Amino acid sequence: MFSYSNQDLYCEQVALADVAAQAGTPAYVYSSRSILDNYRAYDQAFGELPHQVCYAVKANSSLAVLGLLAKAGAGFDIVSGGELFRVIEAGGDPAKVVFSGVGKTPGEVEYALERGIQSFHCESEAELALIDAKAARRGVKAAFAVRVNPDVDAATHPYISTGLSQHKFGIAIAEAPAVYERAHSFQNLVASGVSCHIGSQILDATPILEAVDKVLALANALRAQGHPIRHLDLGGGLGVAYRPGEKTPGIRSFVETVQGRLREAGLTVLVEPGRSIVGAAGMLLTRVLYRKKNGDREFVIVDAAMNDLIRPSLYRAHHEIIPVRRNSLPPIVADVVGPVCETGDFLARERHMANVMPGDFLAVATAGAYGFVQSSNYNSRPRAPEILVEADRFRVVRQRESYQDLVRGESV
Ligand SMILES: *Cc1c(COP(=O)(O)O)cnc(C)c1O
Repeated sequence: MFSYSNQDLYCEQVALADVAAQAGTPAYVYSSRSILDNYRAYDQAFGELPHQVCYAVKANSSLAVLGLLAKAGAGFDIVSGGELFRVIEAGGDPAKVVFSGVGKTPGEVEYALERGIQSFHCESEAELALIDAKAARRGVKAAFAVRVNPDVDAATHPYISTGLSQHKFGIAIAEAPAVYERAHSFQNLVASGVSCHIGSQILDATPILEAVDKVLALANALRAQGHPIRHLDLGGGLGVAYRPGEKTPGIRSFVETVQGRLREAGLTVLVEPGRSIVGAAGMLLTRVLYRKKNGDREFVIVDAAMNDLIRPSLYRAHHEIIPVRRNSLPPIVADVVGPVCETGDFLARERHMANVMPGDFLAVATAGAYGFVQSSNYNSRPRAPEILVEADRFRVVRQRESYQDLVRGESV
């Protein structure tokens, strides 16, 4: 949905130079078309197999993005009470919400029960006991799935790999049958599913498929023991291409492979994609402030920084950085850095890039997932606005923060 027409970069039919001029920079821009296409790619590839696509809210929790997906019929995977609040504010259906995460608080469990979510994805026995007690107090039954740790290696960045036994996530798959058995004695819990999620930015689907086989075998064993398992949740994790030509499994072919393995399972299949729905649908617009040379190192200093997009600093992640208007000057090699007072504040290092001048706009690509949501006010920098493009129109769906916003709730 991002492409050049002549020398100008467009999102759908909107010239990004116009967005940058009107909304200022830095600014996040999302293509509604791209988000919906990706969601529908999941939804349609499942075909006749009973399924539910639960968008992982943490990837991009903007109300406008959640609203688009809610309207398209999506369910949601949440990891906090705040995310449930956002889903409801955006018009999402709590009955299609699954709640993941290792550290749900008593208050969050109460809130989720009050709103009637679909299922809790539990990561410890103590959590099951808490949910049972809270459900008993409300006089309701709570559906749960144990998030099992299938002990497979997602082969991704160590910070976002979650499916090995050394990680904090889930319950070891070998111990899961005993946990379901003990949970059986809780009066207010119903074992409705089995879930897993082995990591993020996975570029080879093999480990996910390995996990699918393991959780399917577990679900069958549990059903044979009389547990009313109805759904199998495969988590998210499908990667996106951050570099041109980077190979990814692709949503359609991934789902078709999974669908082939689960056709006979007699279960509703849930997936929790985040990055693969919004990642490529967003860019971060920034303006060149200065250029300078230290020794023989060239720097392009821009008005977006690590507080706006932390992925390069945190994971050494690569994002393409392209000009909003192309010129015909010979390319340069430079570090693209922001104004934050840390050497770790960079968007790219030793990057072959366009020969841009102060005042020019750049677009940091594939920034729709884990971009704005991980932004902060570090260095007392107001957070960037978020802009949604729909065909030939764009609107600010989250305003740029003001200096007043920076001190809200504080006192001297
Ligand atoms: C983060 C997360 C997801 C989404 O992962 P993506 O890589 O963005 O698809 C899904 N499920 C759970 C439990 C998660 O923690």
